[in-house]
Amino acid sequence: MNEIIEFFRGLFSTSEWPPRWKCGYWSDFHGSLYIVSELLIWTAYFLIPLIILNYLSRKKASLKFNRAYVYFAAFILLCGSTHFLDALMFWVPMYRLNALIRTATAIVSLLTVYHLVKILPQAFKQKTNIELEKEIQRREEAERKLEEANKELEAFVYIASHDLQEPLRKIKIFTTMLMDSNTNMLEEDNAIMAKISGSATRMQTMITDVLALSTIKEPGEAMEVNVNAAIDNALADLEIKIIEKAAVINVEELPSVIGNEGYLSQLFLNLIGNALKFSQVQPVINITGELIGNKARIHVTDNGIGIAEQNQHKIFDIFQRLNTKSAYEGSGIGLAICKKITEVHNGTIKVKSKPGEGTTFTIELPAAKTKTEVLNRVTT
Ligand code: ADP
Repeated sequence: MNEIIEFFRGLFSTSEWPPRWKCGYWSDFHGSLYIVSELLIWTAYFLIPLIILNYLSRKKASLKFNRAYVYFAAFILLCGSTHFLDALMFWVPMYRLNALIRTATAIVSLLTVYHLVKILPQAFKQKTNIELEKEIQRREEAERKLEEANKELEAFVYIASHDLQEPLRKIKIFTTMLMDSNTNMLEEDNAIMAKISGSATRMQTMITDVLALSTIKEPGEAMEVNVNAAIDNALADLEIKIIEKAAVINVEELPSVIGNEGYLSQLFLNLIGNALKFSQVQPVINITGELIGNKARIHVTDNGIGIAEQNQHKIFDIFQRLNTKSAYEGSGIGLAICKKITEVHNGTIKVKSKPGEGTTFTIELPAAKTKTEVLNRVTT
């Protein structure tokens, strides 16, 4: 114990040993070679940790194993200090301090080894730059193939839709001709002809809807869209149905969004069309909205038949219909179109409903102005 106390008391003492120059025989050349080499090693060992720490401070967020870099820097710095002290010994023989620095170096070296062994399995799992580059190339190739396949599919859907329309048009024309030329046709035959014509019309609607779904793309130019104007377009298209059903439609002042007015008119046409269609009493439709940060949230609420909870997740899938076509006509594509339109606008669509009480569709789209911008504008 006494020895340890003595050791620390005389940590910087040089009186018990001769300077290294006087220890044995050193020629000037030999001594200088030793000292200069030690100082050069120390300089390098001093600069390496600085470079590592500089790298670490710049890349901290993207680096894994940050602690390993710090251990490594400390280990090199301490190794460097031992070389510096070795050079210093030629004039200032602080052997106690030298021993203490070596002890610290030994401890930090062992800690570094321990840490490296600990992170080694994870480090092996890390992909090298070459592996990552290869992966990027593979993904780019897959994306290119997917894009080609999509283009082919789009072309196929487009051509098929156009070509399928033609025979359907003919079916409708010929059934009308048959009905017109046979005025004394039996009532049952007349009903069959009307069914054939009705089915052909339904198929035409489906084909048009599939075509509409397949051609929705990301809106090229981001434009500020007045949502009230997009809703007015939809309401103009639905005018006859609104009058037929004596529907009450309340639309409040809505926040503008970034997107494509044509697509948004189509979105509201489908949502309001459904609200009108799936009702058993006089339809009352409320369209409200608010700004949440940089998103515009718009709600379309109706007092219609509602949707059972277990079916709500299905309705955005293509061809999913919850009612028989004799009760409510439709192709089952409208909400799939709505979903795709919100997706290409980086938005979302959700449904909340209670059977017999009504349904609310909530869409979220990128707002043209954030809430703070709007408030600032109001106060200035
Ligand atoms: P479609 O209206 O052509 O049947 P959609 O894709 O628009 O197809 O809707 C899918 C299904 O979701 C509908 O068949 C209907 O059962 C249900 N649905 C959609 N909107 C409403 C609504 N506002 N109220 C009640 N049910 C709805």
